[in-house]
Amino acid sequence: MLWTNRIFCGMIKDSVYLRDRQMRNLGGIKSMRKVVKFGGSSLASAEQFKKVGDIIRADKGRKYVVPSAPGKRFDGDIKVTDMLYACYAKAEKKEDITASIAAIRERYMEIINGLGLSLSLDDQFEVISENFKKLAGSNYAASRGEYLNGIIMANYLGYEFIDAAEVIVFHEDGTFDAETTNEKLSARLAECDNAVIPGFYGATAEGKVTTFSRGGSDITGSLIAKAVHADLYENWTDVSGFLIADPRIIDHPEAIETITYRELRELAYMGATVLHEDAIFPVRQEGIPINIRNTNAPEDNGTWIVGSTCQKSKYVITGIAGKKGFCSVNIEKDMMNSEIGFGRKVLQAFEENGISFEHVPSGIDTMTVFVHQDEFMHKEQKVVAGIHRLANPDAIDIESDLALIAVVGRGMKSTRGTAGRIFSALAHKNINVKMIDQGSSELNIIIGVANEDFETAIQAIYDIFVITRL
Ligand code: ASP
Repeated sequence: MLWTNRIFCGMIKDSVYLRDRQMRNLGGIKSMRKVVKFGGSSLASAEQFKKVGDIIRADKGRKYVVPSAPGKRFDGDIKVTDMLYACYAKAEKKEDITASIAAIRERYMEIINGLGLSLSLDDQFEVISENFKKLAGSNYAASRGEYLNGIIMANYLGYEFIDAAEVIVFHEDGTFDAETTNEKLSARLAECDNAVIPGFYGATAEGKVTTFSRGGSDITGSLIAKAVHADLYENWTDVSGFLIADPRIIDHPEAIETITYRELRELAYMGATVLHEDAIFPVRQEGIPINIRNTNAPEDNGTWIVGSTCQKSKYVITGIAGKKGFCSVNIEKDMMNSEIGFGRKVLQAFEENGISFEHVPSGIDTMTVFVHQDEFMHKEQKVVAGIHRLANPDAIDIESDLALIAVVGRGMKSTRGTAGRIFSALAHKNINVKMIDQGSSELNIIIGVANEDFETAIQAIYDIFVITRL
């Protein structure tokens, strides 16, 4: 049977959102149950909080709210999470933290006063100060950013506040306990219609506060969406979606309308970031779409991240991403093609030195291994010696300062000439292509170029597919 349940469910969900775009723009499809996560820049000031309040009130489906800590209000500002880490570092050195705590408190007071709330955080700050002095841990310290913002948000919205330490569970060794979390979250949230649950942290069974890695509020939102079987996980940030290419390289790149989880994973792996990588898995398992939205432009559609879709992407490619700083280790041996186990022996030399490889394109008598330069640099002679010992090649040649670019798109499978277009675009810019690797899924083409050609190459690929649409 062609329509598996998961694909079918995914498509129903996908078609629901496609059915009524206009309604969605005006505040969403009313009957949907949504989890909404707001990033730090969306909650950096009272002004931003008001925008968030308007967004939530515009749609009754926005039932469960996950706030980050206040982020930067302007270029050069400091995120509250960073202020907390810095303050805790002082406490560890037994320095006076009074001024640092006062500065953090000031950030929250500005929000509370700007919103006209009659809420006092005095008791909270007293406890936090004491715990800092008792060295309760840097995870505890960082988590207070979300905790306090959650209290303010709940007060502002009139929603119930649920401390994430009660429902997001970590093992004693600091790893995340997905099963217990899901049980606790489902049970607790079944009791309430609306709630604010701060992002980023949880606690062990013994009550030790533990955090995800930075940007981890995205994960909390995803876990909640899974636990309540949400129809949609809205992730509100300060860009109107996932962009086709890096805006530091391309001037005002277009946003991607719809992207599949697999495409997103390819792009994220190559450095494109909007969402914490671990935020994808919980909702993906449940077939819940994610909608990336812009708090400062709520009328924009943003990007839909879905399991599968019959929506063609606007262009042949969905996105371009890349990273600099790779080395290629080129290994030659006559008659390599007929030597069984040659590749394994070569890769063993990397494994023995704890180096992971990125790509391994090969020819008849040659094989190339792409590795991260900074990881490889200090171990290169050991690896080379290992390859000689294990695989006895004729020659090994190392090339450094290479960049890898991933051109990703579900549309490439059904379109002829994509690789041809990429290479002619690069040839026009006099860029030498050092490597090409097309995944068997035909979802991506990876290209290796010199570091110095990286930006020009991305611009050339963007131009050919998006600007001229050749
Ligand atoms: N506040 C935390 C950070 O700055 C977590 C988050 O915002 O998701 O990384």
